[in-house]
Amino acid sequence: MASNHHRNLLLPVDNPTLPVWQTNPHPLHDHRSTEELPETCDVLIIGAGFAGVATVYNLVNGEDIGGTSELSVVILEARGACSGATGRNGGHVRPDHFGTIPTYAKRFGLKAAEEFAEYEIANFHAIKKLVRQQKIDCDLVVTRTCTAFTNQRTLDKYKPNYEMLAGLPYMDDFQFVIGEAAESISGVKGALACSSYTAASVFPYKFIMHLLDSALNTGHVNLQTHTPVIGISKAPDGTLVVKTERGFIHTKKVIHANNGYVAGLLPEYKHSIIPCKGICSHITVPEEKVAPLLTNSYIIATTDNGMDYLIPRPDGSIIVGGASHMFRADKHQWYNNTDDSILIEAVKDYYDGYMQRTFQGWEDSGAKVKELWTGVMGYSYDSLPHVGDVPERLNQMILAGFNGHGMPVIWLAAKGVAEMIRKGTAFEDVGLPKIMKTTMDRILAAKNGPEGGDIL
Ligand SMILES: Cc1cc2nc3c(=O)[nH]c(=O)nc-3n(C[C@H](O)[C@H](O)[C@H](O)COP(=O)(O)OP(=O)(O)OC[C@H]3O[C@@H](n4cnc5c(N)ncnc54)[C@H](O)[C@@H]3O)c2cc1C
Repeated sequence: MASNHHRNLLLPVDNPTLPVWQTNPHPLHDHRSTEELPETCDVLIIGAGFAGVATVYNLVNGEDIGGTSELSVVILEARGACSGATGRNGGHVRPDHFGTIPTYAKRFGLKAAEEFAEYEIANFHAIKKLVRQQKIDCDLVVTRTCTAFTNQRTLDKYKPNYEMLAGLPYMDDFQFVIGEAAESISGVKGALACSSYTAASVFPYKFIMHLLDSALNTGHVNLQTHTPVIGISKAPDGTLVVKTERGFIHTKKVIHANNGYVAGLLPEYKHSIIPCKGICSHITVPEEKVAPLLTNSYIIATTDNGMDYLIPRPDGSIIVGGASHMFRADKHQWYNNTDDSILIEAVKDYYDGYMQRTFQGWEDSGAKVKELWTGVMGYSYDSLPHVGDVPERLNQMILAGFNGHGMPVIWLAAKGVAEMIRKGTAFEDVGLPKIMKTTMDRILAAKNGPEGGDIL
């Protein structure tokens, strides 16, 4: 099992809180394809979350990027498979049209922002298609995602963003209602306005474990769980030597897909991708009670800079997280913090009674928190993920920095990275938004800019 002897390396802790998704571990959770580590491979992936697994899947199964591949791939995971952010998230596959997109529009222009918004929508459709084609049992539900505003100041901040983007074609799917009807349309008590568009919810752990299983079944992938990478060096023949406590692996290529922990092995990303904690809960309704059906997923903007996210599950239970406004000021509880073994003190009681106080008709539902957990995200200094060749490190690539928002971003990025590896295609030619390319300029801007950038 992974030890913490290398804590200065920014490794995941051994005893994380248990999210509802992982209460029935998949047979591959602690899997090792072979007893000993293989000595060599063509491509070595660090991290078995969405980014790592989607890259592996596309490397060995990606029919539409050049047929099946003969590459030998090793995936090293510090803990159990999918035990990081992906296995402990909110299950919301929601293009974020009003969080980061207006920031990108102001920084890079409307065209670049539109490209990113369309990219997130394309991810949503690609996931939907993948789940249907591969018959993945992962509770995918296509829904409307409703943003309900109960706070006037947040609504005032949001309206100009809406107006800025209103002419873009993807906004045809969008509805924005201000005034009295908002409360009955959204079902959220005290809603002053609400907006909605198409999104999905998913059981993230089941989704990823299915992809992992399918990749392993090709016979080209060796998975080694509980095997943290603790160093990377160059061999005289130009190959890379990856160090673990269980031995060394020689490889032609390394993919850093370890998100919040990336700076442990790539210290130049220390200011670019910062591990930040979030909290999430699972709320159930007792069998003898009935609660109103929620047909939307939600973002609920209750206070200044305060947002909760929520998805109803097909079994009638609820996943809800967020509440960062409650702990933001107390930096040590979440910022630059990788300890997902403990809850965030300031919000550990926040979800008690949440449904009763937030939704109409839930007052007597008896809804209660069943599981509560934390997770570590890779927050990006400039809000953008880092994807592509690591500057000045030959044969190393990165796919990390997905904030609290990887579900509608990672799939096509991983597919792009797999195409770059399989066909030698340049980043610019795999159809990814240009602004997510990792560059030395971005790394230096984070290093030389004010602490925390967009995060703080
Ligand atoms: C509480 C919470 C709620 C969230 N809700 C949502 C949501 O509803 N919708 C959404 O879009 N996003 C959400 N996110 C964000 C989303 O989960 C992430 O953006 C996404 O899962 C990142 O995937 P990843 O593969 O890059 O990282 P991870 O899933 O964290 O995978 C990285 C893996 O690398 C492993 N690792 C680390 N260091 C090493 C090492 N040295 N050697 C080997 N392995 C290593 C880790 O153990 C981990 O398994 C949420 C995140 C959290 C924590």
